[in-house]
Amino acid sequence: MEHSIPISALQHYAFCPRQCAYIHIERAWDDNYLTAKGSQLHERVHSSEAETRGNIRSERGVQVCSEKLGVHGQLDLLEVDRGSGAVMPVEYKRGKPKVADCDRIQLCAQVLCLEEMTGQRIDKAAIWYWQVRRREWINVDDALRKSTLAVINATKKLLDSGRLPPAVYSTSCKACSFFERCAPRDKDHSGSYVKKIFFDEETTQ
Ligand code: SF4
Repeated sequence: MEHSIPISALQHYAFCPRQCAYIHIERAWDDNYLTAKGSQLHERVHSSEAETRGNIRSERGVQVCSEKLGVHGQLDLLEVDRGSGAVMPVEYKRGKPKVADCDRIQLCAQVLCLEEMTGQRIDKAAIWYWQVRRREWINVDDALRKSTLAVINATKKLLDSGRLPPAVYSTSCKACSFFERCAPRDKDHSGSYVKKIFFDEETTQ
């Protein structure tokens, strides 16, 4: 089997390929308020005991992998229906639901691993967002599966290349803990940033 990549790398790649390279190629980690809160939340979730409520058994920190896809990871929460034996992953996030697909892609990769491990089809999974204190239900449909497979392939290519891709300034940069190290405003020569500079100048004059 080819080498396996962590599911977290897919979330990082979908957020920003350069951020993924900082973490998974250069092994760099810069904390900011958001990442520190996120780590705290995951530590709390993983240290909780397994429990049963009604028909649902909740397991924490379950390891999953897909040999077929070459990905592996750890689930924040696995819910098992004790009646039917159906399983469902729940991912915990510090923030609130995002427009971008990065959290959904991470969850879908967990689903693909569980499907391979259990032989079950999983059409629904959930993300629990701390900031809004609610569970968002995610349909694991064909479109999401396709995007996830594309991100798995792209992430593998990036990690195999061993190179840091160029900075592309985007709205993601505001929440990125690598902002100072990356300095995307200085390095991005893409059309979008150049346009943004002119737009900012026009609107601030
Ligand atoms: S600052 Fe922006 S371009 Fe740089 S790694 Fe973070 S998200 Fe990517």
